Amino acid sequence: MPILQIALDTPLDQLFDYRAPDADKTDIGRRVRVPFGRRELVGVAVGLAETSSIATEQLRTVIEIDRESPPLPGDILRLARFAAGYYQHPYGATLLALLPPALKRPAFRPPPAAAYTLTETGRKHVAELPARATAQRRLAERLAGGPVATAQLTDLRPSMRDWLKRGWIEAAKPPGTRSEAESLPELTHAQKTALDQMAEAGTGFATWLLHGVTGSGKTEIYLRTIERTLAAGRQALVLAPEIHLTPQLVERFSRRFPDRKLVSLHSGLADGERLAGWLDCLAGQVDIVLGTRLAVFTPMPRLGLIIVDEEHDPSYKQMEGLRYHARDVAVWRARQTDIPILLGSATPALESWANAGKDRYRLLSLPERAHAAANLPATRLIDTRTDKPVQGLSEALRTALGDNLSRHEQSLVFVNRRGYAPVLYCKACGHVSACSRCAAHMVIHRFGGGYQLRCHHCGLAARPPEACPQCGSLDLHPAGQGTQKVEDTLATLFPEARILRVDRDTASRKGAFDAMREAIGGREVDILVGTQIVAKGHDFPNLTLVGVINADQALMSTDFRASERLFAQLMQVGGRAGRADRPGQVLIQTDYPHHPLYSALVAHDYPAFASLTLRERRQADFPPWSYQALLRADARSMSEALAFLEQAHRLGLESSEQVTLYDPVPALMHRVANRERAQLLVQSPSRTRLQRFLTPWIAALRALKTGGLRWSIDVDPLDG
Ligand SMILES: [Zn+2]
Ligand SMILES: [Zn+2]
Repeated sequence: MPILQIALDTPLDQLFDYRAPDADKTDIGRRVRVPFGRRELVGVAVGLAETSSIATEQLRTVIEIDRESPPLPGDILRLARFAAGYYQHPYGATLLALLPPALKRPAFRPPPAAAYTLTETGRKHVAELPARATAQRRLAERLAGGPVATAQLTDLRPSMRDWLKRGWIEAAKPPGTRSEAESLPELTHAQKTALDQMAEAGTGFATWLLHGVTGSGKTEIYLRTIERTLAAGRQALVLAPEIHLTPQLVERFSRRFPDRKLVSLHSGLADGERLAGWLDCLAGQVDIVLGTRLAVFTPMPRLGLIIVDEEHDPSYKQMEGLRYHARDVAVWRARQTDIPILLGSATPALESWANAGKDRYRLLSLPERAHAAANLPATRLIDTRTDKPVQGLSEALRTALGDNLSRHEQSLVFVNRRGYAPVLYCKACGHVSACSRCAAHMVIHRFGGGYQLRCHHCGLAARPPEACPQCGSLDLHPAGQGTQKVEDTLATLFPEARILRVDRDTASRKGAFDAMREAIGGREVDILVGTQIVAKGHDFPNLTLVGVINADQALMSTDFRASERLFAQLMQVGGRAGRADRPGQVLIQTDYPHHPLYSALVAHDYPAFASLTLRERRQADFPPWSYQALLRADARSMSEALAFLEQAHRLGLESSEQVTLYDPVPALMHRVANRERAQLLVQSPSRTRLQRFLTPWIAALRALKTGGLRWSIDVDPLDG
């Protein structure tokens, strides 16, 4: 009797054996429905055996094998196996996390991936619709925007079947041939050299690190290498951070490859859309996949190239569950598939830069901006010890904003704090508003007509107190600057200016980003106030001034990666100023104008910043000169969390593997939502040694009874 070994999404790090009377080895990689306890679960068959260590009469039987859709290919099973092993996460949970949510439900009816468009008669019908037919209008609007997959159509009322019957919609035709070849931009010398180097190296595995400032033409390099890959009959996988925020990237790719099938995969898609795209990939019908971090696991049978844009971006690291880094998984996948991978950034992660220094990665440089007229913005530091800011704004910045306004050019004020002010402060006794559930301050937000205190960690909201809860004084003041307060200050200073605030609070609404882009592109905005979200890959041709306030706080951080993140953010924000034919300027307010980070920034000298920071890290033995794993625990009390970590520490000391085990300590954010948090750091100069230590150690920890305590392991953590 054949027995299928099945991966299930459970916390147990094991496979489960089930009887499967009609199974054979072609079923490996297929989805299966199985009984599990009193429930029914969806799993993936990963192995076939004749015998099991469990007595035959105790084995349960598979309910159904999904033979309608193609099985997951072997390379994806291996990729999941690698990620599970490396990140110390159960294999079953890892594998199931890769599937689109729709495939994890017990109903095995994947919708056909057909898409529909509006016909001529349909268009006429819609034009005559009465105003109250809002549902029909919505459907028509979606269809007018391009083909819509069936899975989505069924989400919309009225029934699409009725529309089909009446001939108002029809199956979308496959994309036509290229109507008119887009004229290709002239390449710079540096671009040509980079492309030649890659071409000479061939189609086998190599990791390329493409370093180029904003506007230096990295995207053109991506497009040309993709073109070569497609011409050779293979597929390209492109990863980008937060694609739903950067539709221009998708547009640019579809314009360049109009007769190729391009699928974009990210978590902002409706389940049906994501499923349809994913199934097309699985069937090998897609030429280019453009996706966020999870897309690194997309099945692509003819994969010939991987590109990771903005490879330094922290959003490539998943912070919960399977804590993987998509760039690192992508490099592993490229090696396994024996294909080239191209990592691009203006400010590479120091890990990548160090790898290029060690010749593990091959460095390609684009030193200048592609448009000769678009010079790098002039960056100037404002010494706030002498030019003291009023409401956060120095005189130099106020003057520059005023000048820019009178020239009818756009400005951006970058404040990396959302809300009105970071804290409410009592002038009489020094008390600051704190969250009752977290080790954090409450942030003041403007809300409705008044104000609200909010915790950014647990979401707790409260009315601001009338009087100080500690001394009763009425002398309470908001301290510091958030985006809302800067917005208010600018409105008072420049009453004639049209101001737009962009942060996570304003951008969370669907469509808010498109509206923002349109308003800025259409010059309906004079001054933008925003957090780093505004800097993500947008082209604002009229933006010529960027002001940065409150950047210094990152220099004081206890997190050794804070300066790396700050440098990357400021380069990215500064890169928004002065595109096309207008020179831009960047003004940074600081108390430390002689800090080497700022000197490197003014000189646009990433290599100088990188070598300085890498030297500091080497002295401290920090990554990339060492490899880390962080064991985190949270419990109702700190003593409980620390006791577990002490036990883990003792178990670790018994290992024969030489690694450094630090003492368990309370986390920097030691309380979130009434849970006390502590952590234990493990470090080693060798990745292999760290891995050899972790696997048995984590297995031993899983065997412990921990009651209400929760713990997790984070390999190559980016925070903490
Ligand atoms: Zn007080
Ligand atoms: Zn809180």
